Amino acid sequence: MPEIATPASTKAYDRLRALQREAGTLASVSRLLGWDQETYMPNGGAAARAEQQSLLAGLSHDRATDPRLGELIAECEADANLNAPGTSTAANLREMRRDYDKAIRLPRALVQELARAGSESQQVWKKARAESDFKQFEGSLTRMVGLARQKAECLGFSEGGELYDALLDKYEPGMTAHEVEAVFTPLEKRLSVLVSELLDSGRGPDDALTRAEVPADRQHAFGLMVIERCGFDLERGRLDTTTHPFCEGLAPGDTRLTTRYREERWTDAFFGTMHEMGHGLYEQGLPKLAGQYEDVPASHFGEPLGESISLGIHESQSRMWENFVGRSASFWQWLAPHAHAMLGSGLERHDADAICRAVNTVSRSYIRVEADEATYNLHVMLRFGIERALIRGDLSVRDLPGAWNERFEKMLGVPVPDDRRGCLQDVHWSFGLMGYFPTYTLGNLYCAQLWEMMNKAIPDIETQMARGEFGEILTWLRTNVHKHGKRYRAGELCERVTGEPLSAEPLLRHLEGKLKPMYGLA
Ligand code: ZN
Repeated sequence: MPEIATPASTKAYDRLRALQREAGTLASVSRLLGWDQETYMPNGGAAARAEQQSLLAGLSHDRATDPRLGELIAECEADANLNAPGTSTAANLREMRRDYDKAIRLPRALVQELARAGSESQQVWKKARAESDFKQFEGSLTRMVGLARQKAECLGFSEGGELYDALLDKYEPGMTAHEVEAVFTPLEKRLSVLVSELLDSGRGPDDALTRAEVPADRQHAFGLMVIERCGFDLERGRLDTTTHPFCEGLAPGDTRLTTRYREERWTDAFFGTMHEMGHGLYEQGLPKLAGQYEDVPASHFGEPLGESISLGIHESQSRMWENFVGRSASFWQWLAPHAHAMLGSGLERHDADAICRAVNTVSRSYIRVEADEATYNLHVMLRFGIERALIRGDLSVRDLPGAWNERFEKMLGVPVPDDRRGCLQDVHWSFGLMGYFPTYTLGNLYCAQLWEMMNKAIPDIETQMARGEFGEILTWLRTNVHKHGKRYRAGELCERVTGEPLSAEPLLRHLEGKLKPMYGLA
């Protein structure tokens, strides 16, 4: 059905889109500065870069809270045609309204204070972590928790909800702590049982081959070959090195991936690259370029229709390529001969099956980012419980290390040796990023549920992967997830695509189905 609006509101809508595009361009300049800072900027540029970023942040905030923007949104909302249920214009307006209302609720002073306190607190955290001394960080973290609570109070939350919801909503729009808990609780129980069964079997795979010494340049060439084969467009993207790997959907036609090479453990960079590539394929698939999709002819760069749905959905894409594709037996049937030829280093003595088993080893470890697929979510659920208690005021910052260590041992079955490998390991809280952690596990859950559906749509998916063919997988993701931008909320997209609300079952089926046979349990 064509979407017809009155001329006056059409003009307002066009003006609104133009403003959003300008705001998007301004944000892309800031992302470029951020990317450069993490890759090539010399240390001497740090002070000037902070000044550049702070200026841009101020300009962006002024634009996001401009009363003219609010007037244009209201003008368009008054037009029934632009707001017809189910239309892309209605979805765009819904999200623009949401962003605007959120932005104007935050006082400029608080936004600036959060930015300043975050960057100071991050410096304190770095030193505290290096020296494994929580006491040094306690004051900064107390300040950040206080600011996060203030921010949540400004943003507000729905009736019957809690303060934490206001923070979670930024990363996972529309989701509440209560809903997260409802999915996490059964998942935690079943995962704990699964991890114990696997590790008590005493029949784990041998992962020695992951420690084969592979020179960084060979790892880089191998990674580039694989991401190109999976469909990452290197004419519209790059792969560079950094200390903390990330992906940046920098601008239309420009998506940057970064990775980190450790010569003594080639699998770190390889799966890191697969992960960031999953984020990158999503960024490249969002309708930011005109003519990218036949049925989405316009460029929606800067508008909600050109943005990702949520961090959870973003993570579902990275986890799919990293784990569901990259750690599957079929994938290694295709890739093992290439690994032998391109990486060498003795890997040629191991066949596809041996490599696949080695990269699926489960172990009780302390560090979240190094955790395997089965224990990873336990690390995330621990953080969710703790940060929720901090925001509720049920846990004081002073008692954080004790609470962390106690819960960690209960969940993972090993005592925490020190705070560096305990509550000081992640950067998030030092920046005041609270409500962020659950999106990692939500991503795994969305991923598993989407993957089951994709397997029904592509019955010979395993054969295709074993031949190194990923075109149909990517097309399915483009059609069902990427091209819609923020048209649907995460839960809505999940139901539309899979016919079911979000559930822990598909992820458990995936983990049990893959890992139990490897541990001689099925
Ligand atoms: Zn990620």
